[in-house]
Amino acid sequence: MKRETVIVLDFGGQYNQLIARRVRESNVYCEIYSYKTGLEKVREIKPKGIILTGGPNSCYEPGAPSIDPELFSLGIPVLGICYGAQLMMHLLGGKVEQAPLREYGKIEVSVYPHSPMFREVSEKTICWMSHNDYISQPAPGFHVTAWTENCPVAAVEDGSRKLYALQFHPEVLHTRDGKKMLYNFVREICGCSGDWRMDSFVEESIRNLREKIGSGRVLLALSGGVDSSVAAVLLSRAVGSQLTCVFVDHGLLRKDEGDEVEAVFGPEGPYDLQFIRVNAQQRFYDRLKGVEEPEEKRKIIGEEFIRVFEEEAKKSGAVDYLGQGTIYPDVVESGLGGESAVIKSHHNVGGLPDYVDFKEIIEPLRNLFKDEVRQAGLQLGLPEQLVFRQPFPGPGLGIRIIGEITAEKVRMVQEADAIWREEIQKAGVARKVNQYFAALSNMRSVGVMGDERTYDYAVVLRAVTTTDFMTAESADIPWEVIGNATNRIINEVKNVNRVLYDCTGKPPATIELE
Ligand code: GLN
Repeated sequence: MKRETVIVLDFGGQYNQLIARRVRESNVYCEIYSYKTGLEKVREIKPKGIILTGGPNSCYEPGAPSIDPELFSLGIPVLGICYGAQLMMHLLGGKVEQAPLREYGKIEVSVYPHSPMFREVSEKTICWMSHNDYISQPAPGFHVTAWTENCPVAAVEDGSRKLYALQFHPEVLHTRDGKKMLYNFVREICGCSGDWRMDSFVEESIRNLREKIGSGRVLLALSGGVDSSVAAVLLSRAVGSQLTCVFVDHGLLRKDEGDEVEAVFGPEGPYDLQFIRVNAQQRFYDRLKGVEEPEEKRKIIGEEFIRVFEEEAKKSGAVDYLGQGTIYPDVVESGLGGESAVIKSHHNVGGLPDYVDFKEIIEPLRNLFKDEVRQAGLQLGLPEQLVFRQPFPGPGLGIRIIGEITAEKVRMVQEADAIWREEIQKAGVARKVNQYFAALSNMRSVGVMGDERTYDYAVVLRAVTTTDFMTAESADIPWEVIGNATNRIINEVKNVNRVLYDCTGKPPATIELE
């Protein structure tokens, strides 16, 4: 049975991944394609609905991204958003031009309540706008279903052809009823039944993996992060001990983290797989000796990681498949999915490792967003503390120690970080902050403890609130919590005599210190 799919045709807007995420929150599977995707391919996919995204261009300019207008006559419902809305009008005989007043930000919109797009949406609602152009005249056959003070055409539709267009962005959270509108489009207008659910995804994946892998052997690098952990459990459910997981402890993990990973995936844990832990701490410290520059540290840690993994892979004999925890944003951001500029080439996608002999790469989470990976993890019975683990950089504590890395500094930052996390959790503020950790500055300063002069290190405490990790604010942590953590760190962590709180947002800073 084929899964119901809605496709997003990407015109380079900023929020295009969000559209797909919101659609999936309505339990409809959704994939992002470039606007250049031909009609042939669209017919082959047989989507239940098509969404055209926003984008930076003006549709009336020569050379602006466009589509074959045939798309509107396939009998498949189409929703245009912002640029997509303008393009739909432009191609079907309406008029789009520069708006006398551009709109940016949250704007009150009046909607026509009998439009199926606006079922259960209040007649006056708040929407997020970001446009310079506007639809000055709808295409023939369309009627206006929403407007604002400065934008006479905030939504149009032609119900008989199932074509809908919104000038605002329903996918961003600032649009109060946006999720409802996208639900209305995919569930009511496109008639999707909502067959995208994590429990059926998990079962289906296990079946497919079994079929594909047969009696072959799979090798997976397990970091203990959410993605590789969920991939490991999925594969182990599918093929049991045909899966070998290699966990490289590079000595730059959080306090006790190596043992935690081993407790879950090792021989004492509940999963049927072969688990190899490589204690390579000293090897990494040796390689990092005297290195201070952050990019160089990253490079060394990455290279050494591959080398260790490669050696273990060779020891464990021939494998057929290499498993990876690639997720959908990695695919999209590498430019393999949509049209948005290549943001970064992701390590999981671009550079295939050529150091192990294998037939094929297996990426069981390739189509999932992060929140879906987490849901799948819960379905698979992974402990919550692992599933909701905070983001942790690949090079680990290596980039939370400013300057040279030594075993001694790793100990300091591990202990301080554990105390900070414990105090935040104890105070019940963990839910209000999205990421919090301790780092070790390279600053030493004079203090006095027990009437004696000290000359020791300063720990930096960091806590931020953010929704997307692209921008962040320094979190307003109650002074008492910072005070308690400071006291404990000074008392319990040897060679630390000062604690600083990082008040900087991103931008201008980054969340991590290096
Ligand atoms: N570039 C178009 C405009 O300025 C569309 C903007 C958008 O899609 N956000 O109106």
